[in-house]
Amino acid sequence: MRVLLSNDDGILAEGLHVLRRKLAEIAEVYVVAPDRERSACGHSITVHRPLRAQQVTLDGVAGPLWAVNGTPADCVKLALEALLPEPPDLVISGINLGANLGTDVLYSGTVSAAMEGAIGGVPSLAVSLDSTDTTLLPFAAAFTAFLCEQVLSRGVRPYTLLNVNLPNLPPAQIKGVAITSLGWRRYEKAVHRREDPRGRPYYWIAGEIRDDYGLDGSDVAALAAGKISLTPMHFDLTDYRLVEQLKTWELGAWLGPHRRVSNGRPPVEDSPGEPLA
Ligand code: MN
Repeated sequence: MRVLLSNDDGILAEGLHVLRRKLAEIAEVYVVAPDRERSACGHSITVHRPLRAQQVTLDGVAGPLWAVNGTPADCVKLALEALLPEPPDLVISGINLGANLGTDVLYSGTVSAAMEGAIGGVPSLAVSLDSTDTTLLPFAAAFTAFLCEQVLSRGVRPYTLLNVNLPNLPPAQIKGVAITSLGWRRYEKAVHRREDPRGRPYYWIAGEIRDDYGLDGSDVAALAAGKISLTPMHFDLTDYRLVEQLKTWELGAWLGPHRRVSNGRPPVEDSPGEPLA
Protein backbone atom coordinates (compact mmCIF):
# COMPACT_ATOMS: atom_id res chain seq x y z
CA MET A 1 0.00 0.00 0.00
CA ARG A 2 1.34 3.43 -0.95
CA VAL A 3 -0.09 6.40 0.98
CA LEU A 4 0.24 10.13 0.48
CA LEU A 5 -0.16 11.93 3.79
CA SER A 6 -0.81 15.65 4.08
CA ASN A 7 -2.49 18.06 6.49
CA ASP A 8 -3.22 21.73 7.10
CA ASP A 9 -1.51 22.03 10.50
CA GLY A 10 1.94 21.99 8.90
CA ILE A 11 4.85 19.59 8.50
CA LEU A 12 5.70 19.75 12.24
CA ALA A 13 2.19 18.89 13.49
CA GLU A 14 1.96 16.06 15.99
CA GLY A 15 -1.23 14.71 14.41
CA LEU A 16 0.63 14.21 11.12
CA HIS A 17 3.53 12.30 12.67
CA VAL A 18 1.48 10.09 14.99
CA LEU A 19 -0.48 9.04 11.92
CA ARG A 20 2.67 8.70 9.79
CA ARG A 21 4.26 6.31 12.28
CA LYS A 22 1.08 4.21 12.55
CA LEU A 23 0.59 4.01 8.77
CA ALA A 24 4.25 3.06 8.29
CA GLU A 25 3.36 -0.30 9.91
CA ILE A 26 1.11 -1.16 6.95
CA ALA A 27 2.14 1.14 4.09
CA GLU A 28 4.83 3.03 2.25
CA VAL A 29 4.14 6.58 3.46
CA TYR A 30 4.99 9.77 1.56
CA VAL A 31 4.43 13.08 3.36
CA VAL A 32 3.86 16.34 1.52
CA ALA A 33 2.62 19.05 3.86
CA PRO A 34 2.61 22.84 4.20
CA ASP A 35 5.78 24.32 5.75
CA ARG A 36 3.58 26.10 8.34
CA GLU A 37 0.06 25.92 9.67
CA ARG A 38 -2.50 26.68 6.96
CA SER A 39 -5.75 25.87 8.75
CA ALA A 40 -8.98 27.38 7.36
CA CYS A 41 -7.45 28.20 3.97
CA GLY A 42 -10.08 26.11 2.17
CA HIS A 43 -9.26 24.82 -1.29
CA SER A 44 -7.09 27.75 -2.36
CA ILE A 45 -4.09 27.11 -4.60
CA THR A 46 -1.00 29.22 -5.31
CA VAL A 47 -0.73 30.54 -8.85
CA HIS A 48 0.99 33.94 -8.54
CA ARG A 49 4.35 32.88 -7.08
CA PRO A 50 6.62 29.83 -7.38
CA LEU A 51 6.18 26.85 -5.09
CA ARG A 52 9.15 25.15 -3.46
CA ALA A 53 9.15 21.63 -2.09
CA GLN A 54 11.94 21.14 0.42
CA GLN A 55 12.87 17.57 1.32
CA VAL A 56 12.83 17.15 5.09
CA THR A 57 15.27 15.09 7.14
CA LEU A 58 13.73 13.29 10.10
CA ASP A 59 15.68 11.37 12.75
CA GLY A 60 18.80 11.89 10.63
CA VAL A 61 17.19 10.21 7.62
CA ALA A 62 16.06 12.07 4.52
CA GLY A 63 12.61 10.56 4.35
CA PRO A 64 10.04 10.86 1.63
CA LEU A 65 8.86 14.05 3.33
CA TRP A 66 8.47 17.40 1.67
CA ALA A 67 7.61 20.79 3.18
CA VAL A 68 5.87 23.03 0.65
CA ASN A 69 5.46 26.81 0.88
CA GLY A 70 1.86 26.52 -0.20
CA THR A 71 -1.60 25.35 0.80
CA PRO A 72 -2.82 21.81 1.51
CA ALA A 73 -4.38 21.64 -1.97
CA ASP A 74 -1.01 22.76 -3.46
CA CYS A 75 0.72 19.97 -1.54
CA VAL A 76 -1.51 17.22 -2.91
CA LYS A 77 -1.38 18.63 -6.45
CA LEU A 78 2.44 18.72 -6.34
CA ALA A 79 2.63 15.27 -4.78
CA LEU A 80 0.41 13.65 -7.40
CA GLU A 81 1.90 15.39 -10.41
CA ALA A 82 5.55 15.98 -9.53
CA LEU A 83 6.95 14.56 -6.30
CA LEU A 84 5.81 10.97 -5.87
CA PRO A 85 7.53 8.35 -8.05
CA GLU A 86 4.20 6.56 -8.55
CA PRO A 87 0.58 7.42 -7.81
CA PRO A 88 -0.54 6.57 -4.27
CA ASP A 89 -3.32 4.11 -3.47
CA LEU A 90 -4.74 6.53 -0.91
CA VAL A 91 -4.52 10.20 0.02
CA ILE A 92 -4.95 10.93 3.72
CA SER A 93 -5.19 14.35 5.32
CA GLY A 94 -4.78 14.76 9.06
CA ILE A 95 -5.00 14.11 11.83
CA ASN A 96 -6.39 17.60 12.39
CA LEU A 97 -6.72 18.85 15.97
CA GLY A 98 -10.26 20.17 15.70
CA ALA A 99 -13.39 18.75 14.10
CA ASN A 100 -14.39 19.46 10.50
CA LEU A 101 -18.16 19.14 10.41
CA GLY A 102 -21.02 20.38 8.30
CA THR A 103 -20.48 23.75 6.63
CA ASP A 104 -16.98 23.96 8.12
CA VAL A 105 -15.75 21.53 5.45
CA LEU A 106 -15.94 24.41 2.95
CA TYR A 107 -13.29 26.36 4.89
CA SER A 108 -11.22 23.38 5.97
CA GLY A 109 -7.70 22.89 4.65
CA THR A 110 -7.78 19.33 6.01
CA VAL A 111 -10.83 18.40 3.96
CA SER A 112 -9.55 20.31 0.92
CA ALA A 113 -6.32 18.30 0.82
CA ALA A 114 -8.38 15.10 0.72
CA MET A 115 -10.73 16.67 -1.84
CA GLU A 116 -7.74 17.40 -4.07
CA GLY A 117 -6.86 13.70 -3.83
CA ALA A 118 -10.43 12.78 -4.82
CA ILE A 119 -10.29 15.19 -7.78
CA GLY A 120 -7.07 13.41 -8.79
CA GLY A 121 -8.98 10.12 -8.82
CA VAL A 122 -7.36 8.67 -5.69
CA PRO A 123 -9.55 7.39 -2.81
CA SER A 124 -9.09 9.93 -0.04
CA LEU A 125 -9.70 10.39 3.66
CA ALA A 126 -9.82 13.53 5.78
CA VAL A 127 -9.34 12.76 9.48
CA SER A 128 -10.11 15.20 12.28
CA LEU A 129 -10.25 14.91 16.04
CA ASP A 130 -12.78 17.04 17.95
CA SER A 131 -10.13 17.90 20.51
CA THR A 132 -6.72 19.45 21.07
CA ASP A 133 -5.82 16.58 23.46
CA THR A 134 -2.89 14.88 21.75
CA THR A 135 -3.20 11.79 23.99
CA LEU A 136 -6.23 10.86 21.85
CA LEU A 137 -4.13 10.82 18.65
CA PRO A 138 -2.80 7.22 18.83
CA PHE A 139 -6.32 5.78 18.91
CA ALA A 140 -7.43 8.08 16.07
CA ALA A 141 -4.37 6.94 14.08
CA ALA A 142 -5.13 3.27 14.74
CA PHE A 143 -8.74 3.73 13.58
CA THR A 144 -7.48 5.52 10.46
CA ALA A 145 -5.10 2.66 9.65
CA PHE A 146 -8.00 0.19 10.04
CA LEU A 147 -10.15 2.36 7.75
CA CYS A 148 -7.39 2.51 5.10
CA GLU A 149 -7.36 -1.28 4.91
CA GLN A 150 -11.16 -1.35 4.65
CA VAL A 151 -11.21 1.24 1.85
CA LEU A 152 -8.56 -0.57 -0.14
CA SER A 153 -9.99 -4.06 0.28
CA ARG A 154 -13.65 -3.11 -0.26
CA GLY A 155 -13.19 -0.19 -2.66
CA VAL A 156 -15.09 3.10 -2.83
CA ARG A 157 -16.67 5.02 -5.69
CA PRO A 158 -14.05 6.96 -7.62
CA TYR A 159 -13.79 10.71 -7.01
CA THR A 160 -15.21 10.52 -3.49
CA LEU A 161 -13.64 11.16 -0.14
CA LEU A 162 -14.48 10.06 3.37
CA ASN A 163 -14.63 12.82 5.95
CA VAL A 164 -13.83 11.23 9.30
CA ASN A 165 -14.35 12.97 12.65
CA LEU A 166 -13.54 11.41 16.02
CA PRO A 167 -15.20 12.61 19.23
CA ASN A 168 -13.40 14.18 22.17
CA LEU A 169 -13.59 10.99 24.24
CA PRO A 170 -11.24 8.30 25.49
CA PRO A 171 -11.56 5.18 23.29
CA ALA A 172 -13.55 3.20 25.89
CA GLN A 173 -16.29 5.84 25.91
CA ILE A 174 -16.82 6.08 22.15
CA LYS A 175 -20.39 4.97 21.38
CA GLY A 176 -19.91 3.63 17.87
CA VAL A 177 -19.34 4.57 14.24
CA ALA A 178 -22.05 6.50 12.37
CA ILE A 179 -22.30 6.90 8.59
CA THR A 180 -23.55 10.46 8.27
CA SER A 181 -24.46 13.35 5.99
CA LEU A 182 -23.06 16.85 6.28
CA GLY A 183 -24.95 18.85 8.90
CA TRP A 184 -24.90 22.53 9.58
CA ARG A 185 -22.43 24.21 11.83
CA ARG A 186 -23.38 27.81 12.31
CA TYR A 187 -21.70 30.45 14.39
CA GLU A 188 -23.06 33.28 16.48
CA LYS A 189 -21.21 36.55 16.92
CA ALA A 190 -18.74 35.35 14.30
CA VAL A 191 -17.04 38.73 13.86
CA HIS A 192 -15.52 40.58 16.80
CA ARG A 193 -14.76 44.27 16.36
CA ARG A 194 -11.94 45.73 18.43
CA GLU A 195 -9.68 48.76 18.36
CA ASP A 196 -5.94 48.83 17.88
CA PRO A 197 -3.68 51.09 20.03
CA ARG A 198 -4.14 53.88 17.45
CA GLY A 199 -7.92 53.75 17.74
CA ARG A 200 -8.51 52.11 14.38
CA PRO A 201 -10.93 49.19 14.19
CA TYR A 202 -9.84 45.64 13.43
CA TYR A 203 -11.78 42.40 13.30
CA TRP A 204 -11.39 38.79 14.41
CA ILE A 205 -13.47 36.00 12.93
CA ALA A 206 -14.01 33.69 15.91
CA GLY A 207 -17.63 32.80 16.56
CA GLU A 208 -19.41 30.68 19.09
CA ILE A 209 -20.67 27.42 17.65
CA ARG A 210 -24.43 26.96 17.43
CA ASP A 211 -24.81 23.39 16.17
CA ASP A 212 -28.01 22.06 14.66
CA TYR A 213 -28.34 18.70 16.32
CA GLY A 214 -31.85 18.38 14.92
CA LEU A 215 -30.64 17.16 11.55
CA ASP A 216 -31.08 13.42 11.76
CA GLY A 217 -28.09 11.43 10.63
CA SER A 218 -25.75 14.41 10.41
CA ASP A 219 -22.07 14.45 11.30
CA VAL A 220 -22.77 17.11 13.92
CA ALA A 221 -25.38 14.89 15.61
CA ALA A 222 -23.05 11.86 15.54
CA LEU A 223 -20.24 13.69 17.33
CA ALA A 224 -22.70 15.09 19.87
CA ALA A 225 -23.80 11.49 20.55
CA GLY A 226 -20.20 10.45 21.19
CA LYS A 227 -19.76 8.55 17.93
CA ILE A 228 -17.13 8.52 15.22
CA SER A 229 -18.63 10.14 12.11
CA LEU A 230 -17.90 9.04 8.53
CA THR A 231 -19.36 11.23 5.78
CA PRO A 232 -18.84 10.22 2.14
CA MET A 233 -18.33 13.44 0.16
CA HIS A 234 -18.11 14.54 -3.45
CA PHE A 235 -17.07 17.82 -5.06
CA ASP A 236 -20.34 17.98 -7.01
CA LEU A 237 -22.21 20.72 -5.14
CA THR A 238 -25.10 20.75 -7.63
CA ASP A 239 -28.54 21.01 -6.03
CA TYR A 240 -30.30 18.38 -8.13
CA ARG A 241 -33.67 19.20 -6.55
CA LEU A 242 -33.54 22.62 -8.20
CA VAL A 243 -32.40 21.45 -11.64
CA GLU A 244 -35.86 20.29 -12.77
CA GLN A 245 -37.58 23.38 -11.38
CA LEU A 246 -35.17 25.75 -13.15
CA LYS A 247 -35.74 23.94 -16.48
CA THR A 248 -39.44 24.89 -16.28
CA TRP A 249 -38.48 28.59 -16.24
CA GLU A 250 -37.48 28.28 -19.94
CA LEU A 251 -34.90 31.02 -19.57
CA GLY A 252 -33.62 30.37 -23.12
CA ALA A 253 -36.69 32.14 -24.50
CA TRP A 254 -35.09 35.43 -23.50
CA LEU A 255 -32.37 34.88 -26.12
CA GLY A 256 -34.80 35.16 -29.06
CA PRO A 257 -35.41 38.91 -29.03
CA HIS A 258 -32.10 39.75 -27.34
CA ARG A 259 -29.56 37.94 -29.56
CA ARG A 260 -29.53 40.96 -31.91
CA VAL A 261 -28.29 43.25 -29.15
CA SER A 262 -25.13 41.36 -28.29
CA ASN A 263 -23.13 41.78 -31.51
CA GLY A 264 -25.20 44.20 -33.59
CA ARG A 265 -25.71 41.59 -36.31
CA PRO A 266 -29.00 39.90 -37.11
CA PRO A 267 -29.50 36.55 -35.39
CA VAL A 268 -29.13 33.37 -37.43
CA GLU A 269 -32.80 32.67 -36.95
CA ASP A 270 -35.37 34.94 -35.43
CA SER A 271 -37.47 32.36 -33.64
CA PRO A 272 -38.58 33.08 -30.06
CA GLY A 273 -35.76 30.77 -29.01
CA GLU A 274 -35.63 27.29 -27.59
CA PRO A 275 -34.92 26.57 -23.95
CA LEU A 276 -31.20 26.02 -23.50
CA ALA A 277 -30.24 22.37 -23.56
MN1 MN B 1 -5.89 22.46 10.96
